[in-house]
Amino acid sequence: MLNSKKVKEVAKKLGADLVGIADVNRFEGAPKQMDPRYINPDAKTLIVLALRIPRGSLRGIEEGTYFLSYSSQGYGSINLIYMPFILYHLTRFIEDYGYEATPIPNDYYNWPAIDYGKGKIKENWSKSVSPEKPMPDIFIHFRIAAFCAGLGEIGYSKLLLTPEFGPRQRFACILTTAPLEPDPIYEGPKLCDRCMLCVKECSAGAISPKETVKVNVAGREIEWGKLDVDACSKGFQGKEPYKRYNPFIGEPSPVIIYSRAIEGARGCIRACMIHLEKEGKIKNKFKEPFRKRKAWHIEWEK
Ligand code: SF4
Repeated sequence: MLNSKKVKEVAKKLGADLVGIADVNRFEGAPKQMDPRYINPDAKTLIVLALRIPRGSLRGIEEGTYFLSYSSQGYGSINLIYMPFILYHLTRFIEDYGYEATPIPNDYYNWPAIDYGKGKIKENWSKSVSPEKPMPDIFIHFRIAAFCAGLGEIGYSKLLLTPEFGPRQRFACILTTAPLEPDPIYEGPKLCDRCMLCVKECSAGAISPKETVKVNVAGREIEWGKLDVDACSKGFQGKEPYKRYNPFIGEPSPVIIYSRAIEGARGCIRACMIHLEKEGKIKNKFKEPFRKRKAWHIEWEK
């Protein structure tokens, strides 16, 4: 008989660092365009997989000397190589038990009918196949899914923080008709203490210090700082339409579709991780602190 324990064991053998399981009804009340139940109305369970971002993939950005590792091994490879491999094989494993399993990869980009950064329906992009259905494609909010699957809490940065890796992981999901035992919503030690370092250290100023967004998910109210996605994109990529902001002059070609992370997730990942490590809140421990030298600063061309 297929059960949650078996699914988790196989997912971890395939390379997942964390696995959480949600009853799909935890999405009750979700906006239609973001409700996974429309992908398969007979699905019972959403399995959420997390793969860690290696801490060392951020090292070259921390030192300001090597940006390729994070874009490649901390981002593109996780979303577009390792995770699809795990999704594919775990899907096969579940389907061998006679349950349908729909892999939901983290490579959606311009597929959804909503602009997920701004939460708005895209104009002239999509239409429903019938009035009661949402427009293709539905967008699954992976961080909310991970929250529903009990993997952690949403921090002020809007990143999902886990007790294992803090802000340092990426997610993908499998939606299945298998009725698996769900994990409880995370009720462990509080991770985000509203230190606001994600806000202060984001050189693009992408996270509002005052304005917040509140949503109800699985019977809980969660809140995060309002994100300016254009500023975030500028900080991350510094390229068109933000090319003029690139402080490093030349623009390398993208690697596994990702460009150089100019800002290197300075606030939402690095500052948050440094803080949570100092507070002893992350289980994935290292022999030395991450930040050993003064953080670099470069003037962006205005
Ligand atoms: S940096 Fe501080 S405020 Fe921001 S998400 Fe992390 S713990 Fe929360």
